[in-house]
Amino acid sequence: MGAGPGDPGLLTVRARALLAQADAIVYDALVNPRIVQNSAVRSDAEMHDVGKRGGAPSARQDAINALLVRLARAGKRVVRLKGGDPFVFGRGSEEAQALAAAGVSFEIVPGVTAGVAAPAYAGIPVTHRGVASAVTFVTGHEDPTKGDSDVDWASLARAGGTLVLYMGVKRLPDIVAALTAGGLSPDTPAAVVEWGTWPRQRTVQGTIAGIVDAARAAGIAAPSITILGDVARLRDEIAWFDRRLLHGRRVIVTRARTQASDLTARLTELGADVIEAPAIVIVPADAAPLRTALGRLDAYQWVLFTSQNAVEIAWGALRDAGGDARRFAGLRVGAVGQATARALLDRGIAADVIPPRATAEGLAEALRQRPDVRGTRVLFIKADGAGDALPAALHDMKTSVDEVVAYRTVPDASGANAARDALASNAVDAITFTSSSTVRFFLDALGGNTDAIGRARIITMGPITSDAARSLGLTVHAEAATATIDALVDVVVDLLRSAEQHRS
Ligand code: SAH
Repeated sequence: MGAGPGDPGLLTVRARALLAQADAIVYDALVNPRIVQNSAVRSDAEMHDVGKRGGAPSARQDAINALLVRLARAGKRVVRLKGGDPFVFGRGSEEAQALAAAGVSFEIVPGVTAGVAAPAYAGIPVTHRGVASAVTFVTGHEDPTKGDSDVDWASLARAGGTLVLYMGVKRLPDIVAALTAGGLSPDTPAAVVEWGTWPRQRTVQGTIAGIVDAARAAGIAAPSITILGDVARLRDEIAWFDRRLLHGRRVIVTRARTQASDLTARLTELGADVIEAPAIVIVPADAAPLRTALGRLDAYQWVLFTSQNAVEIAWGALRDAGGDARRFAGLRVGAVGQATARALLDRGIAADVIPPRATAEGLAEALRQRPDVRGTRVLFIKADGAGDALPAALHDMKTSVDEVVAYRTVPDASGANAARDALASNAVDAITFTSSSTVRFFLDALGGNTDAIGRARIITMGPITSDAARSLGLTVHAEAATATIDALVDVVVDLLRSAEQHRS
C-alpha cells in the first residue's frame, strides 16, 4: 500500500479503509508517523517499523519479506505501508513476488508518488501543454561514474521532456555533469524539492548549471526530488503551498488530544507544522455519583457545566443509563464558554446562561443578575480541583448546591516527550495554551525549566491563562481577543507572519 509522499491528506480512500482494518502494519522510514498514529488505526494493531537504518540492505529486504509472510500465515490482516507509491522505486513488487511465491494472497493499493506530488506542491507540473509532453522518472542512486549504471544519462539528455530524479542531492553533481556532457543545455530550468508535501517542504530553483550550488547553499538534504526541464520555471506562477501564511512555522498545541483537532486542523490548513504535545489527558472520575445525580435531575432547577469535557462525560453517563436530552426538560442550564455551550447544543440543549466572561466567576456574575436563581437547587458538574468561586457565590445566593466531579486532568507523558523533543532543537516558533492547567502541566513536564522554551513565543487563549503563564515565569507574547479557536488562530497568524516580514 502506498502511503503517499507525506501529507496525510494524500492517502487514498482505499488505503485509509484498509488501515482501519489492519491487524498488523509494517511501515517504512519515509511514512509520515501521523498516518500510522491516526485514530482510524486500531489501537491493538501490531506495529512494525522496518525503516530503521542498519544491516545490509538486501538482508533487510529478505527479513521484511519473511516478516510479511510470517504475519500473513499467522492469519493476520497485514498492511505493508510504503512511502509514495509501492511500485515506484519502492521494492513493493519484490515483496509482492515473495508473497506470490509463498502463496499468500494480497492486493496492491497504489499511492501518490513523490515524483508527481512534490513538484505539484512546489507549483511545478511534470507536464504542461506546449512545454513538456513527456516525463521520465529516474532513480538517481545509480552511480553515473560507474560503467555498469542502469541509467543511460546521455540518451536521457537528448530525450526532451521533464526529468524527475528520485534521490538525495549527493549524486546530483555527477548526474548534472553526465546530462550536460550528453548535450542537455546548462540553461535548462531545474528545481529541488526537499520533504515534498510535508510542512517543512523547501524548494530551490535555478538552472541545471547552478542548481547544485543552490541546493548546497540552502543545505538541502534527503528526501528530495529534483525536476529538470522547462516546467520548473512554472513555479514562478503556480507556487502555492509554501505561500501560505504559516508555511514552515512550527507550533506546539498543548490541548488534550481529544480537544486539539480543531486547532490543529486550522493551523495545519494555514501551512503550520503542528506538534501536538498534549499537556494533559482527561480521566473520567468514578461515574457512580454522576449517575446518581443524573438519575434524579428533577430534584434540581439548574445544572451548570464549566467545560466541554464535563458535558461530554455527563452525557456519556446519561446515555449509559438510557437517558437523553428529555431528562433536562424544565431545567435551566448554565455553560462557561462557547465550546461548552456548543457541546450542549449538539446534544439538543440550548444553554440559558452563557456568561460573556468565560470563567466560573463570569458564570457566578451572570447568575447573580438573574431573578430565578435564588433559593433553587443547583447541580454543578465539574473537574476535580475546580476552584470554590462558583459554589461560594451560589451559597451567597441561598441556593443548595450539589457538586459532582466528572473528571480529573492528569499529565500526559507522551505529550511531554513530544514537546521536549521539539523544543530541544530550538525550532519551535510558538506554543499555544488554552487553559491554566495546560500551562502548569506543560511546565511540569519541562521540569519547571522556562529556558527550555527557547525562542518559542507563548500564545494564550485568554487573560486567566496568561496570568497563569506569567505567574510561572513565562513571557506571554500574545493573547486571543476572545476565548475561541478562531481568535487564537488569528493571533498566531499575526505574530508569526509579522515575524516573517520582520526577517525579510
Ligand atoms: N515509492 C516512493 C519512492 C521511494 S524512493 C514514491 O513513490 O514516492 C525514495 C526517494 O523518493 C527518496 O530518496 C526521494 O528522492 C524521494 N522521496 C520520497 N518522498 C519524498 C518527499 N516527500 N519529498 C521529496 N522526495 C521524496
